[in-house]
Amino acid sequence: MGNLRRKRILVAGGAGFIGSHLCDALIRDGHDVICLDNYYTGRKENVYHLLNHPRFSLVEHDVELPLELDAEEIYDLACPASPVHYSRRPIQTLRTNVLGALNLLELANRKQAKILLASTSEVYGDPEVHPQREDYLGNVNPIGRRACYDEGKRCAETLFFDYRREKGVNIRVVRIFNTYGPRMNNDDGRVISNLIVQALAGGDMTIYGDGSQTRSFCYIDDLIEGMVRMMNGADDFPGPVNLGNPAETTILELASQVRALTGSASRFVFQPRPEDDPKRRRPDIKLAKERLNWTPKTSLDEGLRSTIEFFRSQHVKEEYGKIT
Ligand code: NAD
Ligand code: UDP
Repeated sequence: MGNLRRKRILVAGGAGFIGSHLCDALIRDGHDVICLDNYYTGRKENVYHLLNHPRFSLVEHDVELPLELDAEEIYDLACPASPVHYSRRPIQTLRTNVLGALNLLELANRKQAKILLASTSEVYGDPEVHPQREDYLGNVNPIGRRACYDEGKRCAETLFFDYRREKGVNIRVVRIFNTYGPRMNNDDGRVISNLIVQALAGGDMTIYGDGSQTRSFCYIDDLIEGMVRMMNGADDFPGPVNLGNPAETTILELASQVRALTGSASRFVFQPRPEDDPKRRRPDIKLAKERLNWTPKTSLDEGLRSTIEFFRSQHVKEEYGKIT
């Protein structure tokens, strides 16, 4: 555990993709971890391997409701992250972001706990400056279909900074850029899981628009390292800080890479691009480098290989399940 003392840590949204990897890392570091989730997009299977661990506990709870438990650190990750899921129930997405942040900040205030918000690059909307730095105020359409997520996270950031200013709560805010890796759901709806699942099944690979829009994809292990560094960083650096991999790729290039790595013969099919879908996205990570000494280490090629391996093993499990 290095020189870090054992702490009691709450991970809200801990049964999701990022949350479950964070639980793993915190358990590995010797901490007591409480994973809290309402299983809207997360799954118990993601933390199944931790269930019998003496320092791990699982709590079913909706962060829209107040909660009472002991924790010295709180990670607020509770919120669906895929556009497919967050726009399915937009009012709930807003409630989760705003009421969830309020309830967790109240808890942090009562317990004198440190609290970190998993915010998003979506606070920059469809950005007019490129790459995006933390001082860019963004270009969000407040009445569009993505607004429940973008504005929900923007409001959560506001709450975090107001709790710091008004009540002295010890906060951290990270703005996460597109992250991928093992444990994404088959039906998550985000581009990397969609393309891999489609390629492995030999079905059509869906490209929205002409595929010229860009994203910068960060591998999960790199992101977790950055989040934990931020939580353990200096109290006078609340953020916001961008966490992402600055290597930028078009969706068409990504699809070609996935097709090549899976050895698939799938066709590309072009579908309409969703409303307000950002045209370009790439983080400027100078601040994270300077303040957290953090840079992502995993190339897209390496990260895609291990993610493809994960989806392959899932597929084998499913097939085996059908036979037995
Ligand atoms: P995910 O959907 O896999 O995980 C979110 C978890 O939160 C799920 O387990 C879900 O069941 C839980 N949850 C949702 N609403 C809840 C509620 N009301 N009460 C309790 N739990 C609730 O998504 P993820 O990719 O793991 O994202 C985790 C966090 O990181 C989210 O806050 C997301 O906005 C943020 N983020 C993710 C990315 C990314 O690329 N994955 C990028 C930017 C920000
Ligand atoms: N996308 C795509 N095919 C898919 C899913 C997504 O071309 O099957 C596109 C989507 O329109 C967007 C990019 O890939 O331009 C990233 O989408 P994702 O939902 O993964 O993340 P976000 O839009 O939140 O960055």
